[in-house]
Amino acid sequence: MRCQPDRWKQVYNWLNIKQLCLLCDQRGNYPYAICSPCETELPWLDAHCHICALPLPALGQICGECQKQRPYFDQVVVPWHYGFPVDELITRFKHHGKWPVGRLLGELLSHHLLNAFAQGLPRPDLLVPVPLGKQRLRQRGFNQAGMLADWLGTPLQLEVNAHLLRRERETNAQQDLDAAARQRNLRNAFSLTEPARVKGRHLALVDDVLTTGATANSLARQLKQAGARRVDVYCLARTPKPGETP
Ligand SMILES: [Zn+2]
Ligand SMILES: [Zn+2]
Repeated sequence: MRCQPDRWKQVYNWLNIKQLCLLCDQRGNYPYAICSPCETELPWLDAHCHICALPLPALGQICGECQKQRPYFDQVVVPWHYGFPVDELITRFKHHGKWPVGRLLGELLSHHLLNAFAQGLPRPDLLVPVPLGKQRLRQRGFNQAGMLADWLGTPLQLEVNAHLLRRERETNAQQDLDAAARQRNLRNAFSLTEPARVKGRHLALVDDVLTTGATANSLARQLKQAGARRVDVYCLARTPKPGETP
């Protein structure tokens, strides 16, 4: 005799509930909080640098900065440039604690990554969120990068380690600093808690927005020096160079 309710059926029904689109309030046509017209209009990143994902005018290029000095990370994988409405959605998630918005962005990023894996992007061994400092974590109450990494871990079937990196001190905003000042600003900002877990492994750093790339580069450098085989960066949005429009 079957006494238990049919949970799988409930889960199946729950997954099939058509949700309201978080952008236009219309009922969507698939089980995510965005409708397909709004999804199509997101600021998808077209031509970009193959290494740092900087928006570029033409396909198949490597940007001048990466040609001059190769970053320590191997590849930035990012679906959007930092334009409307993704910029607003990230602000709603990050600064106003609107987790359903963050969750939606995480789901869409996971689709983008699954697609990239299917096209040959190597799957990492481990997802590592960029950590927040204690003070900022207290103010915000959560680490947006940690939440994104958790939301990616399940659909991508990847391990997440939010404790591997620790932010030892806050850093000033990087945008207004030149390259040398960025390096100084980031010196000793992060520590690696378990170097032995990095050796020979392919790691993917997770963050919400990649701006100058200096933080990701500094972390990738630390991970590579500890023996990481490959370091990629997964994020939601890429900003253009300061002063340039996307
Ligand atoms: Zn919509
Ligand atoms: Zn580049």
